Amino acid sequence: MAVPQPLKTIAARVTACEKCPRLRDYCHSIAQTKKKAYLHENYWGKPVPGWGAPDATLFVLGLAPGAHGANRTGRMVTGDRSGDWLYRAMFRAGYANQSKSVGPGDGLELIRAYVTCLAKCAPPENLPNKREFELCAPYWHQELEALPQIRVILALGRLAFEAVLKKFGQKKQAFRHGLEVGLPGGLHLIASYHPSQQNTFTGVLTESAFDAVFERAKLLS
Ligand code: SF4
Repeated sequence: MAVPQPLKTIAARVTACEKCPRLRDYCHSIAQTKKKAYLHENYWGKPVPGWGAPDATLFVLGLAPGAHGANRTGRMVTGDRSGDWLYRAMFRAGYANQSKSVGPGDGLELIRAYVTCLAKCAPPENLPNKREFELCAPYWHQELEALPQIRVILALGRLAFEAVLKKFGQKKQAFRHGLEVGLPGGLHLIASYHPSQQNTFTGVLTESAFDAVFERAKLLS
C-alpha cells in the first residue's frame, strides 16, 4: 500500500529535524564510533520516523530509537532486542507478515499497524529529557492524525502511557501492564511494559503477557 502524502511529509520533516542539539550530537557520535558488531555498517544516524501501514488500526508508541538499533537501521524499533520482541509478538498477533526484524530490506511489513516513538532520536542512557520529549511530541501527534483508522494506541512503557493520557486531556493514572483507558473519539489506550532487555531479561515482561495486550488490541480494533 502506498504511503500517503501526510506521512511522507512528516517523515521528511522528522529526518531533517535538528531541534535537540544534545540528541543530534549523540546520534552523530554513535554513528561514527559504532559498536564492534556493526563496524562494517553505515549507521543511519538521523532522526527516525515512524513506519507501518497507512490503514493502521493499531498505533504502537515506544520511547525512542536505540543507539545501535533504529539509529543504525533507520527503521523504528528495529535491529535490537526490543525490536526482536516487538515484531515477534506482532507477527504472532497478525500485525506483521514475519517475525524476523533486521532492518530495511528484510521483507518485514506491518499489517494494519504503525510503530513510532515519543522521541525520534536516540538518547544517551535511553532517556530523552523533558524538553526533548516536548519538542518531539508534535511529530507523533501528527503521525497519529495522519492515520484516520487508528482505534487502539498501545503504549510501550509508563512514559508513553502518560504522554497519551496528556495528549487526550485525561487525568494521570498509575501505570499497569494491560490497563485499558477509553479515549475521546472511540479510541482505546492499552498500557504495556516496554520490551526492553531490562524488562524481558528479568521476566517483568513475558512473551505471553506481551501477546495478551496484542490480543486485546485486536479485539478492540
Ligand atoms: S528528538 Fe525529535 S525534536 Fe529532537 S531533534 Fe530528534 S526529531 Fe527533532
